[in-house]
Amino acid sequence: MEGIDIIDPRFNSCVLPNAPLEALGAGFRWLEGPVWFADLDCLLVSDVPNNRIMRWTASGGVSVFRQPSDYANGHTRDREGRLIGCSHLGRCIHRTELDGRITVLVERYQGKRLNSPNDVVVKSDGTIWFSDPFYGIVTDYEGSKCQAELPANLYRFDPRDGALSVVADDFQSPNGLCFSPDERRLYVSESGVPFATDPVQHLRVFDVSADGARLSNARIFHKVEPGFTDGLRCDEDGNIWSSAGDGVHCIDPTGALLGKIRVPFPVSNLTFVGRPRSRPFICGSHTLYAMYVTPRGAARPLVPLVYCVCGGSAERCPISPTRRRSIAMRWIFVSSTKQRRTAMRGAN
Ligand code: MG
Repeated sequence: MEGIDIIDPRFNSCVLPNAPLEALGAGFRWLEGPVWFADLDCLLVSDVPNNRIMRWTASGGVSVFRQPSDYANGHTRDREGRLIGCSHLGRCIHRTELDGRITVLVERYQGKRLNSPNDVVVKSDGTIWFSDPFYGIVTDYEGSKCQAELPANLYRFDPRDGALSVVADDFQSPNGLCFSPDERRLYVSESGVPFATDPVQHLRVFDVSADGARLSNARIFHKVEPGFTDGLRCDEDGNIWSSAGDGVHCIDPTGALLGKIRVPFPVSNLTFVGRPRSRPFICGSHTLYAMYVTPRGAARPLVPLVYCVCGGSAERCPISPTRRRSIAMRWIFVSSTKQRRTAMRGAN
């Protein structure tokens, strides 16, 4: 198949011979941090050096969602569906509330400023896990050059009580991260010291403790070549879809490379999109790509939101109960047009 490398015969059933790689938008500087809003049928993605977040919809194509973005990088959604983002310039993790306000969740550890949070995931218990390397403070290109106050740690933040803990402290530069579908493992990319001639770059895996609060048994899981793992995602079978210098690599849970989707430019990140989450959207440097595959992206710990426009009454809601159940919505009743507009602006 053109543009597909089958390394292991198992990868044959992961790709479709008649599904080409599609370019959905171009002209960006460096795409990162894609996040899918299934309830709103839109993707948000950071264009980091251009200091903006873009929005893609099937009907409207690409438009600007937020500018300036404070050099936003990684994104995810919490269990309530709110946007959780990494800010290079703000050196923080923040949350976009349903009314559009931005709440800073984490900006300091033991009184010292974070470096430049890079990527973030939310576990099913609502805790927020993020990496904090130096990429946003070593130059002004993707943030603001300044002195680091902390090592490049991996953190766990519990928004219920505000507890912030270091879960791994031996990275040169932790980068993308992703839980296995059962959340017993956490995959984290090590992308090395910025500008090093021979940076340490590999994908690590940790065991997650039964209480979900700690990591152990760190080991090297896989080394992507060419390039390195930046962002990554799991599919429902536990395979890892990793960014790489020549595209997207699919790796099984033992660390064996199954195959590759070739992309014309180095890939920084991806996310599974659509219903049923079988269309990876791929950040290919300055171009946004997509391609249909057969596996489904692992369901993320997310309860999709739908803003009910019926004045707070489920009985008057225009969406049928069957439809509501089918997509496992969580309902937020918005009682006025003004509130509804504000909520939609905040969430999409
Ligand atoms: Mg990254």
